[in-house]
Amino acid sequence: MNDSKNLKHAFLISIIYFTVSVLWIFLSDAAVASLTNDADTITILQTYKGWFFVSLTAVVLFFLSSKFFQDMHLQCVQSLEQTQACNIAKEIAKASQIELVRYEIILTTLVNSSPNAIFAKDLDGKYILFNDTALKMINLPLKDVLGKSDEMLFSHQDSLKLKEDDKAVIADGKIHTKEEEIVTNDGIRKTFLITKGPLLDKEDKTFGIFGISRDITDQKKYERYLLESKDKFYNLSHMNLVTNLPNRLHISEVLTEKCLENLPFYLILFDLDEFKIVNDSYGHRFGDKLLFEVSKVLKKVFDSTAFIACMGGDEFGIIINSSNKEEIIVLMQKLHDNLNKPFKIDLIDVYITASSGICSYPDDAKSMEELYQAADTAMYNAKKMGKNRFSFYNAEFKKDAIAYTQIVTNLKQAINNSELELYFQSQNNPLTSKIIGAEALLRWKYQDKMIPPDVFIPIAEKSGLIVEIGNFVLKSGFKTVKKWRELGILNSKIAINVSARQLTHLDFINTLKDILEETGCEASWIELEITESSVLENPKLAINLLWQLKGLGFHISMDDFGTGYSSLSYLKNLPIDKLKIDKSFVTNIRNEPKNQIIVKTVIFLARELNIQILAEGVETQDELDFLVENKIDSIQGYYYSKPLPFDEMEKLLQK
Ligand code: C2E
Ligand code: CA
Ligand code: CA
Repeated sequence: MNDSKNLKHAFLISIIYFTVSVLWIFLSDAAVASLTNDADTITILQTYKGWFFVSLTAVVLFFLSSKFFQDMHLQCVQSLEQTQACNIAKEIAKASQIELVRYEIILTTLVNSSPNAIFAKDLDGKYILFNDTALKMINLPLKDVLGKSDEMLFSHQDSLKLKEDDKAVIADGKIHTKEEEIVTNDGIRKTFLITKGPLLDKEDKTFGIFGISRDITDQKKYERYLLESKDKFYNLSHMNLVTNLPNRLHISEVLTEKCLENLPFYLILFDLDEFKIVNDSYGHRFGDKLLFEVSKVLKKVFDSTAFIACMGGDEFGIIINSSNKEEIIVLMQKLHDNLNKPFKIDLIDVYITASSGICSYPDDAKSMEELYQAADTAMYNAKKMGKNRFSFYNAEFKKDAIAYTQIVTNLKQAINNSELELYFQSQNNPLTSKIIGAEALLRWKYQDKMIPPDVFIPIAEKSGLIVEIGNFVLKSGFKTVKKWRELGILNSKIAINVSARQLTHLDFINTLKDILEETGCEASWIELEITESSVLENPKLAINLLWQLKGLGFHISMDDFGTGYSSLSYLKNLPIDKLKIDKSFVTNIRNEPKNQIIVKTVIFLARELNIQILAEGVETQDELDFLVENKIDSIQGYYYSKPLPFDEMEKLLQK
């Protein structure tokens, strides 16, 4: 309520009070006068009347003042609250002003710290915002950018492109993202990924354009590099680096495609015979050069329509688009003729031979896998026939494969059915005829037939069963020695054959230790027979293993000596106790002058190297005499005894 109103109300109350009081005086006096004329009574009534009026006005005054004070209090409270609210509002206003400033700082900081260029233009295309990253990208200070348009900052061509982009944004009011190549102020062509969109006011009207742009020049470079690398990688992964010919992966892909084409063709798998020996004798570099020369011969023999690949190692694959077998035969003969001439590598003449397996699509095989299998089987046949030849696939080979599978199945059962048994063949001193040891030779009695080890051992090796079979041989061999030693009928060693696959099996050394412990046999009672080929397969590993065996106390002999190739060079590195001259050098030695020289030389060499020497397969007195004349240490052969079953050997030892 304002002041004038308050005064009015106060004045009105006073008038009412004055009027009521005057009226009261006159009326009450008149009433008293009408009631009595007695002066004393009038005085008393006047007093009462006075008291009554005072009391009444006191009551009225009380209510009025209490109402007045209540209103006053309310007003005070309200005004206090109002003042407080007012203060808070003031505070808020002050604070929000600070916040606004801060908010602006935050936005500016964010915009300028972004790794992306951020900018905004008005509808005339003039820049109204340009963050630090954007400035760095075009290498200009802010003052040279704000208020300027693209024409002033970029080349004519680039500014036209940018303008077109802006137009598109303004036309549809949508956000657009695009890659643009732009030459920056310092003359460098860069690629940017630019996102542009409209700036809208409260009424949704476009008042400008915002943009976010990222320099993707490096990323683009990297992408291009990746693409190029992918091509390079494709070439590398499809190429044999030694010969520069397509590799196995490549020819496999071609074969798969050709099978889909369904046109007849021939696949030839071509493999160098004994390439390993070349590698081992002259080194891998030399071997690689030879492979490269061979690849040149292949290219020369087969015309450009043939697909020639190096499958890895010394194996090549050739696809010839033809259904004419005669044509293939002519080509293969030409190839083998070419191979018959020596290759001159590092001034050395190298003679090599090769074996090939050939199969035809679709007659022999209908898929890539089948083609490989058929050509492989044919090649296996070529090798089996004595190498240096080619062989066409024949359905008969499949039967061989089935027979092979049957043998493997039966051989697996043989171990459990106790069909395997050890025979023993004595080794004798030719001067005294005394038994100086024996070789354990495995026998397989299958359905009353005796299957010779020459047949089943290679199959056991190929199928991996040799490890299990070998363990059986070791166990029963060790047990036998232990028994004969305890009986006192044998004071020498038993020789046990160890195949390459067995020797290089990860567990071989531990298995030997276990069997020694299980049987109570001592390592020094056992001679392990290793072939040259097991050493040749992986010389480093084999040499290491042989030294470990030697360390355990085993004796080691080199079996079939002379049939391998690089034996002499290995002899000095191997811990060999005994050499066993192969039967092929001994048989009919009196009539084989070359064999005589070999045997004499080997005996001489062994003596020089302090290695024991034994001749195998001695059958006749003549053979024995020649060997004795040349100071052989021991003899193994039918001349003294054939391999005998356990009981018979025991009897022989007891004699
Ligand atoms: P090898 O280790 O060279 O064994 C000698 C082979 O020559 C034996 O053939 C033996 O019976 C035979 N032999 C010995 N003296 C004469 C002889 O005067 N004249 C003739 N013609 N032959 C003689 P066998 O027992 O048939 O064994 C053949 C091959 O099978 C062995 O040749 C050996 O390589 C392998 N073999 C035998 N038993 C085992 C074995 O337990 N483990 C392994 N890994 N291979 C074994
Ligand atoms: Ca042997
Ligand atoms: Ca032998």
